[in-house]
Amino acid sequence: MENVIILGNGISGCTAAIYTARANLNPVVYSGPEAGGQLTLTTEVENFPGFENGIQGPELVETVKKQAQRFGAKFETGICKGVQKIEGGFELTIGENKIQTKTLIISTGASARWLGLESEKTYKGRGVTTCATCDGFFYKDKEVIVIGGGDSAMEEATFLTKFCTKVTLIHRRDELRASKIMQKKFFDNDKTDVIWNSEVEEIVGDGTKLTGVKLKDTKTGEIKDFSCDGVFLAIGHTPNSKFLEGFIDLDDHGYLKADEKMHTSVPGVFAAGDVQDTRYRQAITAAGSGCQAAMEAEWHIAHLE
Ligand code: NAP
Repeated sequence: MENVIILGNGISGCTAAIYTARANLNPVVYSGPEAGGQLTLTTEVENFPGFENGIQGPELVETVKKQAQRFGAKFETGICKGVQKIEGGFELTIGENKIQTKTLIISTGASARWLGLESEKTYKGRGVTTCATCDGFFYKDKEVIVIGGGDSAMEEATFLTKFCTKVTLIHRRDELRASKIMQKKFFDNDKTDVIWNSEVEEIVGDGTKLTGVKLKDTKTGEIKDFSCDGVFLAIGHTPNSKFLEGFIDLDDHGYLKADEKMHTSVPGVFAAGDVQDTRYRQAITAAGSGCQAAMEAEWHIAHLE
């Protein structure tokens, strides 16, 4: 039986791995389909303490992983399909294997949300994407839209101006929820524009190539055509917790319920990072909660013994 299994190798999982490895608990970290978490999809992180001039998101998470490996944390790949309580711990189904552990840290993060339109499925990966860092380069000298009004939308839109001739933000309200500093960067850029009070009703094209969208005015209901070459979604994230349904308490949106000590509703199971964070969702808070979950797991094991 392992001491600690950590599900997810984003910054919260890797931080939990550093702490549990340094506590001689030999943690095993499993990465799922989006290895490295959301930091691997961002560009410059300017607000992580310790990096005066900022650091690239992928570099930050890779460095934290190497730091954990230096203390002996093992990293594996495998998707957890379910967890059940057993005597003295838990049994996880990871791929075809059954793995037993005394404690479990869930840091499976959150994945990008989609609009849920039929036409979105047709053009997914062929003009519709959720990752500017991954796909921005393919839109060199093109015109694109970014949907959303939060920090991610600002960040993606500003980043896309490096490649695109024009980036139009489509937001369903007339006010952004993004932080002022991110808004300033966006509005200061002369390649950006905003269409307020509008939702994308349909993605339009010839079946293989996207040519634009149909926009619905959220105030008047009026529908307008808008031409563009690409659609970038930045409308938030959904926590990766489906496999835990029935085993642990989740809130109405699927976030893991955890107290201020990162304890979940199941003793011995701790939560960290975006899978439990409905409020902050920052790299630094994810790392902090990873540290808390690790220390709580250590105390739980000491108590068991
Ligand atoms: P978010 O703050 O939840 O914003 C999502 C945006 O998408 C909102 O403006 C929302 O509109 C809009 N939206 C949601 N569903 C929609 C739909 N179906 N159709 C159209 N629009 C929709 O998500 P986020 O921007 O991904 O940010 C998440 C967290 O990460 C935040 O805490 C943010 O501060 C943090 N973050 C930080 C940085 C940074 O500091 N560098 C960068 C990126 C993200 P409404 O406003 O009308 O609800």
